[in-house]
Amino acid sequence: MLTRDEAMRCAHAAVALRPDWTIPQLMAVLGDTRVKPRPFPHVAIALAYIAGDEDTKSPGRLFAAGPWWDACRTRSAEPSTPVFRPLAADDCHECGGSKLGSHAGHSYTPPPTKPVDASQHVAVIRAQLTPPAAPDADTTEESA
Ligand SMILES: [Zn+2]
Repeated sequence: MLTRDEAMRCAHAAVALRPDWTIPQLMAVLGDTRVKPRPFPHVAIALAYIAGDEDTKSPGRLFAAGPWWDACRTRSAEPSTPVFRPLAADDCHECGGSKLGSHAGHSYTPPPTKPVDASQHVAVIRAQLTPPAAPDADTTEESA
């Protein structure tokens, strides 16, 4: 939904591109129900598109479907989230990047090759897995 302030900013940008268009004329177009419900960035891009197009005679062209609205879709279809990849054993030790990728500000640093000593961890886990001692047979008979 386009606010009045956003519409005004769009109108002034359009007049900068098309001095023959007027602020009241643009505000009427931007306040129309065919334009106003759209997101501000989409309206701004579409209006700049038609303002820069020599074939466009008036801002009312915004009411029609056209490539000016597709320009917005192309922009919003770009991935905005990072692309994840599975970890590799030879990822850079400094930045975690791929061995063959770029490493900004440093050269590829291989991961340490020293083997991990797991004997202490194994001992702790074995101790936790040992079942508790069984109750003594003599004590159960005495209580009966
Ligand atoms: Zn790196």
